[in-house]
Amino acid sequence: MHQLARASTVLIVLIAVVLGLGVGVGVGVGGTAGAHAAPEPERGPEPQVAVIGTGGTIAGVAKSRVSFQNYESGQLPVSRLVDDLRPEVNRLADVRTRQFGNKDSNDYSVPEYRRLTAAVDDALRTNDAVVVTTGTDTMEEFAYWLDLTVRSDKPVVLTGAMRPWTVIGSDGPANLYNAIHLAASGRTTCFGTVVMLNDQIQAARDVRKADALRLDAFTSGSSGELGVVDQNHIRLDRAPARVRECGKPGWQTPFDLDRLARRPLPKVEIAYSYQGAGPEAVKAFADAGAAGIVTAGTGAGGLSPAMTEARADAVKDGVLFASASRTGSGAVYDPDVRGVVGAQDLTPQKARLLLTLSLAKTHNEDRIQRWFTTLGPERLVR
Ligand code: ASP
Repeated sequence: MHQLARASTVLIVLIAVVLGLGVGVGVGVGGTAGAHAAPEPERGPEPQVAVIGTGGTIAGVAKSRVSFQNYESGQLPVSRLVDDLRPEVNRLADVRTRQFGNKDSNDYSVPEYRRLTAAVDDALRTNDAVVVTTGTDTMEEFAYWLDLTVRSDKPVVLTGAMRPWTVIGSDGPANLYNAIHLAASGRTTCFGTVVMLNDQIQAARDVRKADALRLDAFTSGSSGELGVVDQNHIRLDRAPARVRECGKPGWQTPFDLDRLARRPLPKVEIAYSYQGAGPEAVKAFADAGAAGIVTAGTGAGGLSPAMTEARADAVKDGVLFASASRTGSGAVYDPDVRGVVGAQDLTPQKARLLLTLSLAKTHNEDRIQRWFTTLGPERLVR
């Protein structure tokens, strides 16, 4: 779609959101066709959607049809998952698949994340949208990484499942179908990466897995979900702040992986604070060569005295810290401590990804603090 057309699409989405209209304005099948609709309006060319498989429970196989929680994840090829949804999915889009990997989400590394970004951008050169299937355990990290690194503003939708594909009542087929529907609709153009599970659409920056087993495991906390997929209807109630920069150069983040040096990305670790936490974790990470450490602090970034001292020592050795909260909600603003940036409302695991990418570009603390502040809800007050 032309940049200008895309920008106006988003503008219409925003106006529709403000007016509370659940209208479909996307390309191809927008999701407005009701069960009693008059003759179908003429359709344009089919949207092309690439589904990239990385594994997880959605591709999992269980020993019996009622083995909901004991199963092998990352077994079925993504082509089989999509084929199981045909012919219905063919009415949404021209869907092709690509197997990136097939394993548990916990088994992926940052170098593989780098290759995933390249795979997504590559697919977006010839497709209108991409769906990525992943395990749910670290899906929020997959999503935020892609949100920070994919250069294209076409829709990127992540999905997975809490129950393996082969059991009774698996959420996998409906999640994948809805994700393809959402991607094909074009409605999240310029939203960056979104996550679609349990009919809910969530922003990559806000979403987190908040339950180990339930089907409604994902939440965006006080930010709230972006919208829902209700059968034929895609309802968007809000959009991520970056939509306002749709079509402008500022829409992309500063983290163009093609322009970062080919050398490995810096090592960034997470240290968790708790009552009486010792200095060992911080010291060990610094000794192991960490360029950055995120602290999952109590409340608004609190650390035990021993950890505070270990942090000060590591700062003297050039380690940069991001102070996050272990509470799962609220923000750590400017800690006013040399060598420590405030992670804002990012969870520690997402702050780690942003700190990794930031340190790959610069060690300038002020610049990095600015990225933490502006690559989010405060994007517009730069
Ligand atoms: N352990 C699985 C994974 O993250 C869990 C899931 O997919 O739901 O790959």
